[in-house]
Amino acid sequence: MAGGAAWKDVMRQEGLDDMTLLSKVTNEQIRDNLKERYDNDIIYPKLTLSSQTSISDVLISMNPYKAIPIYSKEIVAEYVGRSRIELPPHIFSIAEESYRSMLNEKENQCIIISGESGAGKTEAAKKIMFYIAEVTGGGNSGGRLEQVKNIILETNPLLEAFGNAKTLRNNNSSRFGKYFELYFNKNGDPDGGLITNYLLEKSRVVFQIPGERNFHVFYQYCVGATQQERNDYGINSAQDFVYLTTGNTLTVEGMDDYQEWNDVRKAMNVIGINANEQASIMQCLAAILWIGNLTYRVAGEKATIADQGTLDFVAYLLSVPVAFLKSALETRQMETKHGANQRGTSYVVPLNEVQALAARDGLAKAIYSKLFDWLVERLNVALKSTSPDYCIGVLDIYGFEVFDNNSFEQLCINYVNEKLQQIFIQFTLKNEQEEYVREGIKWTPIEYFNNKIVCDLIEEKRPPGIFPVLDDVCRSVHAVSDGADKALQQRLSACSENPHFQLRAQNFLVKHYAGDVTYKVAGMVEKNKDQLGKDLIEMVQMSQNPFITGLFPESADSVVNTTAGFKIKTSANALVGALTKCTPHYVRCLKPNDQKLSNVFDGPRVMHQIKYLGLLDNIKVRRSGFAYRTIFKKFIERYFLISGRTSYAGQKTWKGDDISGCRAILEDAPVDKSEWQIGSSKVFLKAPETLFAFEDLRVNY
Ligand code: ADP
Ligand code: MG
Repeated sequence: MAGGAAWKDVMRQEGLDDMTLLSKVTNEQIRDNLKERYDNDIIYPKLTLSSQTSISDVLISMNPYKAIPIYSKEIVAEYVGRSRIELPPHIFSIAEESYRSMLNEKENQCIIISGESGAGKTEAAKKIMFYIAEVTGGGNSGGRLEQVKNIILETNPLLEAFGNAKTLRNNNSSRFGKYFELYFNKNGDPDGGLITNYLLEKSRVVFQIPGERNFHVFYQYCVGATQQERNDYGINSAQDFVYLTTGNTLTVEGMDDYQEWNDVRKAMNVIGINANEQASIMQCLAAILWIGNLTYRVAGEKATIADQGTLDFVAYLLSVPVAFLKSALETRQMETKHGANQRGTSYVVPLNEVQALAARDGLAKAIYSKLFDWLVERLNVALKSTSPDYCIGVLDIYGFEVFDNNSFEQLCINYVNEKLQQIFIQFTLKNEQEEYVREGIKWTPIEYFNNKIVCDLIEEKRPPGIFPVLDDVCRSVHAVSDGADKALQQRLSACSENPHFQLRAQNFLVKHYAGDVTYKVAGMVEKNKDQLGKDLIEMVQMSQNPFITGLFPESADSVVNTTAGFKIKTSANALVGALTKCTPHYVRCLKPNDQKLSNVFDGPRVMHQIKYLGLLDNIKVRRSGFAYRTIFKKFIERYFLISGRTSYAGQKTWKGDDISGCRAILEDAPVDKSEWQIGSSKVFLKAPETLFAFEDLRVNY
């Protein structure tokens, strides 16, 4: 079987496949093992960990930043039906393991992929999808199965065009988080799916730092639009649009925008987005670009649109009356409150420059993020499953972020990462140690940092965490005013009791599990409010284009009280709930360097990641602990056969009590007494090798 040059690449052994077998457990040893393998183009070591029910692996993946020939169909074939102990660690073995244990154990699975931006999360997720599409049936299940697989694979070009961008860290950086649940029927055939998206970085629509781009789709559209679209929607070169040029970067090395645009159009067709809808999508994209070209003339505290021609064109693209567009971009309706039950009188106030620019950019961001949600919704319609039996969820969400300037977006991202770290701790450390206590097993406890305190600091109601404080300020102060930031600064002192929090003059510091991050207070309240003004909502709802009004279904009065912080907190907790119901598999992606270079191993940079990922703690728990455990009955059923006792009429069935049965098996087996323990309901084996030896004895009996 194992033939071909590619296969030999995978089978090569350099360093240790399984880092829990390191001779000394230190961060340096972990790093050196990673380096030895990386230098030989072996990017996947693993940690064998135990969870409550089974031995599970944490796959470690080091981004090679170059093509390594280990993802062919030939390699896929090698992994099919093989257990992870037989073959070298690989993203395919995680996929195989998830798929098999879903079918064998009849349990839902999730694969949690984490790592910093550019570490290789999205590539890993794509390879898992590819593997599953490859190994699942074609056979007699007919056209629907092929169609489902096609749709699953076509979601990528579409979501990447609209949700990814070139950043300094990654030329194809996902600017949204994604939990992709793949559904299967009892036979293991893909049967549909469900995508949940998180936290689209919509600020990118209106601004990019030098060296970065807006979302790919805009540049693709500018080179790929048809002549008709150019005429109808005023699509020119990317150079002509303010929103596409603030980062001064129009192209990405190694990326062909024209080709990608063709892929996007093809994906839209496969997914069933019809010609009318596609035309409306193009119209929205054009509207956003032209909104960005609107300029204001400022006189004192009053800003008015400077360029009537551009305004007319935007009104035409949005199919709204130009007078309403103009007033929504220049003024705000205010209401005076008289008494609790009385309706106030409304009056109109002009916007100053800052407010007017915020209104303009807010409109563009809102249209884009609604469009993105529409696309996800539409993919979900195409993926809708008739009667799913099982599911494998793949989580690809952006990793911990620290920039020179950190704002609300980073707080949200880092918060979600804290929550994911919580589940990781729960699955691998906390549950493990709690079970030893419950079972009365002797072991050496491991000290580890439990980041629950940081989650509490951000989300808890009492004592108030950062999100609740933000919400509180949002409710009481108008967001686009200096007062908002001052009020926030002041009220954040309520968080100061938490040792992971420090309040400073213009910012605050959070000691995250992955390091300290300073967040700027300015602008946070407004970002948390995350609301298009009432005037702007009423304006877009007047559109003659039903696609556009469909993007803004809510009435202007009902959109209060759900802040961005509240939303991310709610969806993060829902995600945690979903993940904890599944059997977890982990892929921890590491970056070898910050320059996107191949063959460069930046030791200190890798060391930092090893430390905050807590790999050392994982290994220690695993080594002090027990790789395998199972309840007495199951152990007896499977292994009594290999004990030396043939009593009871020559039958290999144990008739005594459970504990003595297990003891008999273990005492007769060729393993040292220190390698096992008997708890109150389960047998515990230290090394996975012991279990493998038992399996061998069983098979050869
Ligand atoms: P993330 O999603 O973690 O931000 P990506 O998955 O987008 O990172 O990876 C960033 C880039 O690194 C990819 O565009 C690709 O060039 C390279 N890369 C990632 N994983 C691999 C891999 N397994 N083999 C080769 N190149 C990879
Ligand atoms: Mg990504």
